[in-house]
Order: sequence, then C-alpha cells, then structure tokens
Amino acid sequence: MKIFVSSLFLLFSLSLLNQEVVFHHPIQEDEEIASPFGPRTHLNSGEQRFHSGIDYLVPVGTKIFASTEGIIKFVGIKDFYGNMIIIEHPNSYQTYYCNLSKPLEGLSSGQKVKASELIGYSGKSGKAITAGFHFEIRKDGNPIDPAKYLKE
Ligand SMILES: [Zn+2]
Repeated sequence: MKIFVSSLFLLFSLSLLNQEVVFHHPIQEDEEIASPFGPRTHLNSGEQRFHSGIDYLVPVGTKIFASTEGIIKFVGIKDFYGNMIIIEHPNSYQTYYCNLSKPLEGLSSGQKVKASELIGYSGKSGKAITAGFHFEIRKDGNPIDPAKYLKE
C-alpha cells in the first residue's frame, strides 16, 4: 500500500511538472501597459536599466489577481518593489506583484491560490514613480517577458 501511494504521489508530481502553465493578466481593467519588459532609460538620471517586468497604468486600489494557480511564497515589503507578493507555480515559474497598496487581508505564505483569485490592491509603494502596478514572471529565478506568456 505504501509503495502504491508513493508511486501515485510521484505520478502526481510528474504531472505537475509537465503541466503547461497558463498565465492571465493580473488585473481586470483594460490592460494599459505603461512600461514594457526590457531595457529602458531612467526618467531622471538618463541611465539605462533593465525593466524586469511590465507596468500597468492603474489607479491606486485596483484589484490584483493571481495570474495562475500557485502557492504564496512571500507577502511583505522589499525596498525596490515596495509592498509585494510572490507566488510559486509549477515548472519553476514565479510571479511577482509589486508596488501594491496592500495585500489581501490575511494572505500569508504557504497559502494556495487559484488562478484569478483576488490577492491584493495596486498602489504606489517602493520605487514606483507614478501610481501603477509592476508585474513579473520569472522562470528559474530569471525575469522573462510577461507579454509573451499572458493569455486573455
Ligand atoms: Zn516596473
């Protein structure tokens, strides 16, 4: 019985690994992307920097949803990102939700979330210049272009 259960578990884990991950836009409003992924020139310093995600131009308090199902890995504040949430997904994907005004009350790491579940509200925290919302998709820890992965 034990062997049976563990092989079932193994099959289950393998199916999770091979599952194709479908990402959805993390907001419901018309998605206006203020700043795309890739190199960009800093507004004040003129310095070239790499933008590791996409910015949506949305008012403070806009509802933010999980891009796809996963497990909450981090809820809290990081210098650059401000108030943020990190979700872990199958196939070594992670999504980052940054510059939030606040996460959903009671949201904590280890919690399972479904695709398009409400997780927080946009804001202007961290290094954000204007009100908006910074979103990243990472694969094995490296930022990838969300525009290439997002489905409606
Ligand atoms: Zn950004």
